[in-house]
Amino acid sequence: MSDKLLVIGEARDGSLRNVTFEAISAAKKINADGEIVGVICGSDDLNSQAQEMIYYGADRVITVKHDNLETYTSEGYGQAIMTVINEESPNGIVMGHTAVGKDLTPKLASKLDTGLISDATEIDVDGGNAVFTRPIYSGKAFEKKIITSGITFVTIRPNNVPALERDDSRSGEVTSKDVDITDIRTVIKEVIRKASEGVDLSEANVIIAGGRGVKSEEGFKPLYELADVLGGAVGASRGACDAEYCDYSLQIGQTGKVVTPDLYIAVGISGAIQHLAGMSNSKVIVAINKDPEANIFNVADYGIVGDLFDVVPMLIEEFKKL
Ligand code: FAD
Repeated sequence: MSDKLLVIGEARDGSLRNVTFEAISAAKKINADGEIVGVICGSDDLNSQAQEMIYYGADRVITVKHDNLETYTSEGYGQAIMTVINEESPNGIVMGHTAVGKDLTPKLASKLDTGLISDATEIDVDGGNAVFTRPIYSGKAFEKKIITSGITFVTIRPNNVPALERDDSRSGEVTSKDVDITDIRTVIKEVIRKASEGVDLSEANVIIAGGRGVKSEEGFKPLYELADVLGGAVGASRGACDAEYCDYSLQIGQTGKVVTPDLYIAVGISGAIQHLAGMSNSKVIVAINKDPEANIFNVADYGIVGDLFDVVPMLIEEFKKL
């Protein structure tokens, strides 16, 4: 049984992502009695982020601040976190299965010569052993895994393991670590972000996703309005992205984002297996499609057979009344 678990925190625009708190909760599930040590990298003051990790359950936090950690690079973050790992010798490491987590953790696992369970959606404890559930074959099946040797190294899918309740009365030590981050062959000169408004798709609790049935960029406007009313984000099928109705950053599926919101409303999406791979774990799925035979209805909890151009405005009106 592990007695010290490292949780690698992840921030965006100076704020920790929710999955960091979910990773702390996952670490507690893996070993309720173990010490949870948060680690957070960056180039600015990381103290408030460290405190937040403590409020959400970390026992202490190590911050690594360096100019070369302003933007994520696998080399920079890899060096910083490997230094912490070597000093702390944790029995377990937990991180979110995000774009950064997917890039960083295999590199760390290979340097540590240990295994990695990626994309866990559930953690159970059976006879003192943590059992990890993860989707396979694009979400068509689930496998359960235990770790029999090496350290417990796992990434967790965002929005699946609920974070612990924030407790501002918790306290813990925050130490800053000086790391010499050199020999970086990749230098990020500039980051040009696609303009994105509102809720972050990968962490949204409500997603309104449009498909080729939406027919145009203009057709997406009511979806944004519905997302606004419900406090959610807009996503899309690859069909809609390929047709240039929206940006590829909205694509959900096997080659897009994997999302697990509380509510997923699929609008004019047929339900191809590659799309289902990115959303079928959503808690409640509502499908709006004019074709009653559309495959999306096979995974939907609620289906509305009808023309989306009639149904979506009706939903906006009804939800506005609530
Ligand atoms: P369509 O299949 O064309 O469906 C449109 C739907 O809209 C239909 O069901 C139709 O009945 C309905 N409709 C039309 N008009 C209306 C209306 N007025 N009202 C209501 N309903 C209407 N796809 C992804 O989404 N994500 C991925 O990550 C992805 N990765 C892929 C990877 C590979 C290697 C491959 C080969 C494919 C991938 N695809 C992916 C593509 C996928 O196979 C489908 O082609 C795509 O999902 C179809 O998008 P769609 O459902 O929007 O379009």
